[in-house]
Amino acid sequence: MSTSDLIQRIDAALPQTQCTRCGYDACLPYAQAIALDNESINRCPPGGEAGIALLAQLTGQAIQPLDPECGSPTTPTVAFIDEEHCIGCTLCIQACPVDAIVGANKQMHTVLADRCTGCDLCLAPCPVDCIQMLPIEREWTEELADQARHHFQQRQQRLSLKHAESGSVAARVLANKPKVSAQADSTTHRKATIADVLAKARARRQS
Ligand code: SF4
Ligand code: SF4
Ligand code: SF4
Repeated sequence: MSTSDLIQRIDAALPQTQCTRCGYDACLPYAQAIALDNESINRCPPGGEAGIALLAQLTGQAIQPLDPECGSPTTPTVAFIDEEHCIGCTLCIQACPVDAIVGANKQMHTVLADRCTGCDLCLAPCPVDCIQMLPIEREWTEELADQARHHFQQRQQRLSLKHAESGSVAARVLANKPKVSAQADSTTHRKATIADVLAKARARRQS
């Protein structure tokens, strides 16, 4: 098998949530690292044990437990935005690797549940903490993985036309968070609103 075939087959065995928990920017770079640099096959929490077994078959590496540094095995979740508290900053849209969030500047945002891979990447950038991950009854099939890869590739193509540095979108979004938070804090009223929203979100989580 050629190296490019191997990369393609490894990539096809990965769940395509594009969550970056493996330590790479997306599923494909992890597949490339496994094929080209003999990277360990136990770095994908969404793939779980079944994924590791599949990668072991493809690469000849021994089966090993999931690397705890990458997190624990995940159950299917979907992002939910509390639209009442969304300030329309667009940071979550910029962070989502598969275009699963719709909304416009200063308007409430909504998650398209059918597209959401449950990657969590929209949580950290949200300045008002109004996104939650909810459990969902869904088996992550090969078809859903193919769909997520397609949405990710479409997004990458679009971004590459806009920004030469599109590879580090997540880092850029997090870097923008303080600026957006500061703008959100710019009036006393907005400050009070955000404090109220944060308190409510934390209370909801604790309960
Ligand atoms: S699903 Fe997440 S952890 Fe697994 S390979 Fe893709 S980006 Fe990495
Ligand atoms: S909506 Fe959030 S959790 Fe869902 S795919 Fe986009 S970034 Fe990931
Ligand atoms: S990051 Fe939070 S506040 Fe900003 S648009 Fe998304 S959900 Fe709304």
